[in-house]
Amino acid sequence: MSTRTLSMSDALVNYLLAVSPPEPPLLARLRAETARLPDAGMQIAPEQGLFLRLLIRLTGATRCLEVGTFTGYSALVIASTLPPKGRLTCCDISKEYTDIALRYWDKAGLTDKISLRLGPALETLPDLLDTDGPGSFDFAFIDADKENYVSYYERCMELIRPGGLIAVDNVLWGGAVIDRARTDADTEGVRALNEHVCTDRRVTTAMVPIGDGMTLAMKNP
Ligand code: CA
Repeated sequence: MSTRTLSMSDALVNYLLAVSPPEPPLLARLRAETARLPDAGMQIAPEQGLFLRLLIRLTGATRCLEVGTFTGYSALVIASTLPPKGRLTCCDISKEYTDIALRYWDKAGLTDKISLRLGPALETLPDLLDTDGPGSFDFAFIDADKENYVSYYERCMELIRPGGLIAVDNVLWGGAVIDRARTDADTEGVRALNEHVCTDRRVTTAMVPIGDGMTLAMKNP
């Protein structure tokens, strides 16, 4: 028994996965294909996929936003969980990686549900604010470059409705957040986001130590 969060050994993570619902075959294939890429570590862990699926169900989200799509694993999870009328807008800058995502979304029959916006999210998100209006999304998942995390969070705050949820990945950044020697832009970006969210009175928030750490922030109604 422990009153603090457990350190997760590989064996304990394996146990967690063994007693979790199995990864659907298409997601497992996407994970295997992504594992061969140099940036494979950018993919979320399988248990995070299950967690995202639960969040989508819990919030009853129909309009979702993703900032940072990579090869499309989390988008596949989100879009396949949405009800028939649900829609997901994905922002990413990499054609190479999102071409893989498009292939898998097509296999899953989800291309009608997902709108991919190639380009810097700091341009796409203000565009969405113009076209769709403030409060037009129920759920946002932020998992892009860490340097711009605070800006992504602020743009998503405008786009999310009151009562909507923002989830942010990699908030523990492999432990680099507590390493004073790490002063690179990404690490500083994660630290800035964490300090920003914990004093943000507009949200109800918790940092969940799943995967590389995921912050949940509900925009207070
Ligand atoms: Ca991530």
